[in-house]
Amino acid sequence: MVAEYTPGDREVAGFVISLLKSDPSVENLNHQQLLDRIKEEKKEENWSLSVKRLKKIMKDYNLFLKSAAKEFSPYSKHIFYKSDYVPTLGPGIRLVGTKKRGRGLYASKKFNKGDVIWTEEPLVVAPDVEYLDIIRNGDMCRYCGKPVLKGVTSLLRKEDQYVQCNKCAANWCSKSCRRSDLVHDELVHGTREPTKDKSLKHLNVSRFHWELFEQFANRNNWNAVYLYALMLVNKLKHGKDSEFAKTIDGLAYVNQEKRQESVLDLGSLGFEQLEQVWKEGYALLKEALKPSYNLSYEEYLNGIGCANINNIQLRIYGIYAMVNHNCDPNIEIVHNNWTTFKAVAKRDIEPNEELYTTYVNPEDNLKERQTSLYYWGFICRCERCKREGVENLKISL
Ligand SMILES: [Zn+2]
Ligand SMILES: [Zn+2]
Ligand SMILES: [Zn+2]
Repeated sequence: MVAEYTPGDREVAGFVISLLKSDPSVENLNHQQLLDRIKEEKKEENWSLSVKRLKKIMKDYNLFLKSAAKEFSPYSKHIFYKSDYVPTLGPGIRLVGTKKRGRGLYASKKFNKGDVIWTEEPLVVAPDVEYLDIIRNGDMCRYCGKPVLKGVTSLLRKEDQYVQCNKCAANWCSKSCRRSDLVHDELVHGTREPTKDKSLKHLNVSRFHWELFEQFANRNNWNAVYLYALMLVNKLKHGKDSEFAKTIDGLAYVNQEKRQESVLDLGSLGFEQLEQVWKEGYALLKEALKPSYNLSYEEYLNGIGCANINNIQLRIYGIYAMVNHNCDPNIEIVHNNWTTFKAVAKRDIEPNEELYTTYVNPEDNLKERQTSLYYWGFICRCERCKREGVENLKISL
């Protein structure tokens, strides 16, 4: 018996490529079968190689078996829709899709490069939980997280004029942020917000537990849980039959456990540790909402998954959430200020063309993009990825 030999990554990848080249049917094998085949061919050298390592090397070299989509089990198959509700869309865009197949936003007329396709305000805005203390002290806007220049308001430039809370140290960077923050008074002071909008409901919460919940989110540096909690309290504030609630319910959902299972091996805490943190957050949020809402653990996990897959920079947008990803996007997001943006045509867009954004940095190479997109739940098969995959393979050969 020959002594075991541990081949280097490059050697393994090179051999897999040569196998794929000499026998295209290799692509149909799963990783275990491929490993058996490699060991058989390298019998004389007695290669020492595990399935786990083979998978990792193949991923690093962007070598995908046909079965890989299944073996990687991206969580996209777990994504579901609670309803078919579509928020009001402006002219020039329409939504195509079903509960089952998912959705996509399409152009219904021609747009020239540089045209604004739509502008959008967020449904929910969450500050980075890291700054919750600073926000409580009034140095950042309670609604959008923009730094607040404290001083005598009458002496400040118009754009720096902020609004102070008359009951605590919190500030809002502008009148518009004050107006948009519908939940501050009830969450922090237990009083109704000063609004004349009679359609808004009273939000009855345990302020004590809400504060513990904020501290929990801050301590664990867990933005998704805080964003989700704000989605939920704002939904309760608007009432379940409101357009707001329907739009939130119309977003894509995924159970956080299912999502985590598929990204776990990419490096994070162990599952049990994570579950402990999730449960701690659940207990606090459930207690905080108890006076007006009975939150189930499943709804909580689905909501966190939803916050995770729908947010851009901790903001939830109803229309933007329906735009699919492409590594060669045809729209570009241009922020007007801290909360609103406009979607601009990156090139000429024909009627009936699907609108695409990018969830990753388009400057990244194929491997970097695929890794980031894996966290979004899928393996990208766009034209650019296919083209670059083939180019990579050619370089490796
Ligand atoms: Zn603000
Ligand atoms: Zn206050
Ligand atoms: Zn792609």
